[in-house]
Amino acid sequence: MPSSAIIPLALPKGAEKLCELCQREARLQCSKCRVTFYCDAEHQQADWVGIHKRICQLLVPIRTQTLHSLQQTSHIETQIKKLIEICRLVAQSKLSEGKHQEALPAATCCLRFSIDIHGPNTVQLVPAYLLLAEANMGLGDLNLVAEFLSQAEWAVLKSPKCGLAICQKLHRSLGRLHVVTGDLEAALRNFANDIYFATEEYGLDSIVTAAGYFLMADVFAKQGKMPIVHSLYSEVARIWHCHLTKLLETRTQSIQNPLLDSIYGLPSDKAQRVEVDEMLRTILEFEQKDSRKDRAQIAQVAHCLAMLWFLGGDFLKAQGFGSTALLASQLIPDHDLTEPIQALLQLVKIPHTVPHTGSE
Ligand SMILES: [Zn+2]
Ligand SMILES: [Zn+2]
Repeated sequence: MPSSAIIPLALPKGAEKLCELCQREARLQCSKCRVTFYCDAEHQQADWVGIHKRICQLLVPIRTQTLHSLQQTSHIETQIKKLIEICRLVAQSKLSEGKHQEALPAATCCLRFSIDIHGPNTVQLVPAYLLLAEANMGLGDLNLVAEFLSQAEWAVLKSPKCGLAICQKLHRSLGRLHVVTGDLEAALRNFANDIYFATEEYGLDSIVTAAGYFLMADVFAKQGKMPIVHSLYSEVARIWHCHLTKLLETRTQSIQNPLLDSIYGLPSDKAQRVEVDEMLRTILEFEQKDSRKDRAQIAQVAHCLAMLWFLGGDFLKAQGFGSTALLASQLIPDHDLTEPIQALLQLVKIPHTVPHTGSE
């Protein structure tokens, strides 16, 4: 972490330097770019780990140039848009790894540059607000979550053409906030909107829509409405079964043609896989405990988990879930999943015929 005390003479007159993270008076500056300032070493360290090490040098031209022409202005605008995208991606990936604290500097940076380019209270700030809300949700600061989400809501309200994907994400975040604060009816309304926008944007069978169903089921479970939970879980299981079956087909083809692997972008993201695993296991446990013992659903969900872990390269887990799936499906006469489950178990038993499963 390159750091030095601010040398006042080296700075333009009258420009008071503020901490990049908290906007308080700064005492330190980054000695690499010399255009970024901090109140103390702790904030510099947090910013360095969170985002600054990736954008330190990119900030130099943006923060040192004095604008002389329109051409320069548009060049800087392009550079700032690039920066916003980098910050957004970094914040997103830290959040998906569960590093909420570390996601804050990137999300804050994303918001600040978005305001620079698009102005305050604009719909273009919504992605940054949602990132900040999610990070603070993870940190348990519900007041801040509510504040960022109401800013996002306000920006969306003022801009009717803001796009379905943004509306979908906003309603999902609002729904999750209401779950935590215990307003279950409001949560249900938001998740219903979430599912509506997800269906419009991504289609009925998309995994984004499935995640909306899953979140809604969780609320109904809290209300003790188990038959609704069961039917929403069936939708989730159906969508994921379809999705994973397609991925598995692609993988089987890529054994013959390894090039296909890179074309289809198979799920090598471990954090995402862990999330899906948690969701499917929740459904599996629910169905196994349920007095109705819906064996078809147990077989389908366990088959999903087996495919998920086969694709993730964990053959031991794939074998475990595959066996659970087979057991359930064999109890149903002529069940149409028995054959694909057996085929998968066959693949798992001879791992040397399976190609390397990507970056882990
Ligand atoms: Zn600070
Ligand atoms: Zn720097």
